[in-house]
Amino acid sequence: MIKVKGYAAQTPTTDLAPWDFQRRDVGPHDVQFDIQFCGVCHSDLHQIKNDWFEGIFPMVPGHEIVGRVIKVGDKVTKFKVGDLAGTGCMVDSCRECENCKRDLEQYCLKGNSQTYNGLEQDHKTPTYGGYSNTIVVNEDFVLHIPENLDLAASAPLLCAGITTYSPLRHWKVGKGHKLAVIGLGGLGHMGVKFGVAFGAEVTVLSTSPKKEQDAKKLGAHHFLVTSDPEQVKAAQHTFDFILDTVSAEHDINMYMSMLRTDGTHICVGVPPKPSMIKAFSLLGGRKSLSGSGIGGILETQEMLDFCGEHNIVSDIEMIDIKDITTAYERMLKGDVRYRFVIDIATL
Ligand code: NAP
Ligand code: ZN
Ligand code: ZN
Repeated sequence: MIKVKGYAAQTPTTDLAPWDFQRRDVGPHDVQFDIQFCGVCHSDLHQIKNDWFEGIFPMVPGHEIVGRVIKVGDKVTKFKVGDLAGTGCMVDSCRECENCKRDLEQYCLKGNSQTYNGLEQDHKTPTYGGYSNTIVVNEDFVLHIPENLDLAASAPLLCAGITTYSPLRHWKVGKGHKLAVIGLGGLGHMGVKFGVAFGAEVTVLSTSPKKEQDAKKLGAHHFLVTSDPEQVKAAQHTFDFILDTVSAEHDINMYMSMLRTDGTHICVGVPPKPSMIKAFSLLGGRKSLSGSGIGGILETQEMLDFCGEHNIVSDIEMIDIKDITTAYERMLKGDVRYRFVIDIATL
């Protein structure tokens, strides 16, 4: 077994603190890489707080993981020692169900292995995430990070990046479309970058008036403050797509009133409580309510290569790991500019 230093929540009510644990030795198909940076996703906070379901504790969060390969198994063909490597939200899947066969491991019908707060494919061994100094992952779930990108700023691509890239590609959002992104946080700011890169006219729908300048700097064409009923009224029947990245309770009906006929509201944010949808919000304009979860491994690599070609990374604020609780508090207040990334050297 390999000794690992990490940060863990021991229970849903305790702050994260240093915790030593072990990972499996490098098997024939495994890649071990030393973690240099790990992004802080709102899902980390939801999970250590048991917002969604009862978690597996101790929990080492982190699924936006990047670093350099230090060891490979003897059957590994895709990586060599010294390569940059990344891992997102999954470390394995069944590989044989209909969705795995379609490169949609995120929707594995037998349950994929989440990077933390999950179980390996033996359905017994708990997984531990990227708030730690090293990780061992089957090579099929390790991604190549383009060398030309800033490594720390590329970490959030592994979750915030793919979670916004995938639905925009699936719905072919691009030139001629009006796209609204709700919530200018970690996911939202990547949604803006990809929406703009794909040629859409992008509006940010925000509760934070002070983020307007940043939204424009990120490339958004318009900015709308959703607490102002006049602005919401003026935007009725405007958007072809809404990408909803909100982490907390919000009124989806109000947002759907801003969709055009045949428009689609895509949920990627996962508030702890269920949302109430009025049938009228859907039938008045034949609108669709949909959702999307991260992305498959093939598409995640495609997204990373696209980012390498177009020089797209996340806007980040680097933190020491000891400041993680303060970062969570700021995240809860919507005060993220626009993704915290942990410098793992501070572990
Ligand atoms: P984040 O950085 O905290 O951003 C969320 C943003 O939502 C905030 O910055 C804020 O933006 C807005 N917001 C917060 N509370 C709101 C409210 N009550 N009403 C309206 N807007 C509100 O979080 P994140 O890391 O981007 O994650 C967002 C959500 O996506 C989380 O629930 C996370 O678990 C989920 N997620 C899902 C997937 C997936 O596969 N589908 C993957 C990753 C994360 P403004 O200040 O602009 O209003
Ligand atoms: Zn995430
Ligand atoms: Zn499967």
